Amino acid sequence: MKKVILIKYGELTTKKDNRNFFINKLKNNIFDKLSNYDFEIRDDYYRMFIFPNEDDIDGIVNILKNIFGIHEIVIAYMDEEVTEDAILKCSLDVMKSQKFKTFKVVTNRSDKKFPIKSMEMNNIVGGHILKNIECKVDVHNPDIYLNIEIRNEAVYYYTNGVKGLGGYPVSTLGRGLLMLSGGIDSPVAGYMTIKRGVELYYLYFESRPHTSIEARNKVIELARKLEKYNSHGKLMVVNFTKIQETIYKNLDTTYLITIMRRMMYRIAERVAKKNKCLAIINGESVGQVASQTLSSMVAVNDVTNYPILRPLCSFDKLDIIDISKKIDTYDISILPYEDCCTVFVPKHPVINPNLKFIYEEESKIDFEPLLKEAVDTIEVVDLKEVKSEYL
Ligand code: ATP
Ligand code: MG
Repeated sequence: MKKVILIKYGELTTKKDNRNFFINKLKNNIFDKLSNYDFEIRDDYYRMFIFPNEDDIDGIVNILKNIFGIHEIVIAYMDEEVTEDAILKCSLDVMKSQKFKTFKVVTNRSDKKFPIKSMEMNNIVGGHILKNIECKVDVHNPDIYLNIEIRNEAVYYYTNGVKGLGGYPVSTLGRGLLMLSGGIDSPVAGYMTIKRGVELYYLYFESRPHTSIEARNKVIELARKLEKYNSHGKLMVVNFTKIQETIYKNLDTTYLITIMRRMMYRIAERVAKKNKCLAIINGESVGQVASQTLSSMVAVNDVTNYPILRPLCSFDKLDIIDISKKIDTYDISILPYEDCCTVFVPKHPVINPNLKFIYEEESKIDFEPLLKEAVDTIEVVDLKEVKSEYL
């Protein structure tokens, strides 16, 4: 018997008409993420088989666990002899390598030329296992299922698998621009958005020399963590210093954060349009800080008609932290380097900003040249090349 990897699709099983599109994307994503391995893929409407070198199986499964659109990953055994005798022998071999007390056989006969029907095959194989291994049948809640798929080219045998991440294959739903800071929230917001099939570009606002190279490297590391799930992301760094200093020196300090965030959104919208991103994503959660009250969100959102996705809007901080630990961004996020929001935090930020007052404040300065310059001087960081020395 040869070991192969069987992949069961996730939520895309509900997509009827464009199912092939989703499956092909998933296949491309798998080829992309497994480019260091040598293997073949065969797929159909229901599942995908990966035929790797046996030594590579563990490494490949570990990568597949991080690919969205996969519901379950199973190591299956393939045998090209499609006869009753071979099925009995292989079934027993597979079950002898497993630990269980109760089991159930589930046969799927996609090759209808095979003379024995599925139900009958379940009984024959089940009886054979009971005769040779000390165990019981439990059709409702067995310790393991023995699945037997009889196809015309081969028979596949498999037991319980590993859960995949679910979601949709990355880039089936277009591209979004994630406002990525060094905090805990935005990487989690990014992860949740990739899960829905959206491919990400990243936008980071930095204010050197008020913020450090370490703060930038933190963001680079976070983006690289997200790249495990994403597909060919690009990190763009905005030099935000002049805009922040201008606001700080000239405008009402209680409105500093609100106006600064309005500038961020304005820049983000322009960058999103330029880079064919269909939405802007951020890590805001309602009520978490003064700039995230509903009325603050209204005041900030006022500068754009672009869709702003806030996947964490209803999450508690502790739930966000749980996810950040799971995706391995937490330890980076809690490193102490300040980003541009924390450097300029006023003592008493406004909680219910007044739009009319904001317009008056903003009209004191011509921000347009500053915004244009910020967009024109964006620096792109190659996420593959960078090795950060500072973390
Ligand atoms: P986080 O933990 O993600 O930093 P936060 O709780 O500190 O979020 P804010 O500082 O108000 O909240 O930021 C809200 C969101 O705005 C962030 O989640 C992020 O998406 C975006 N953001 C904030 N600062 C930056 C920055 N310097 N560069 C890019 N995006 C930013
Ligand atoms: Mg932050």
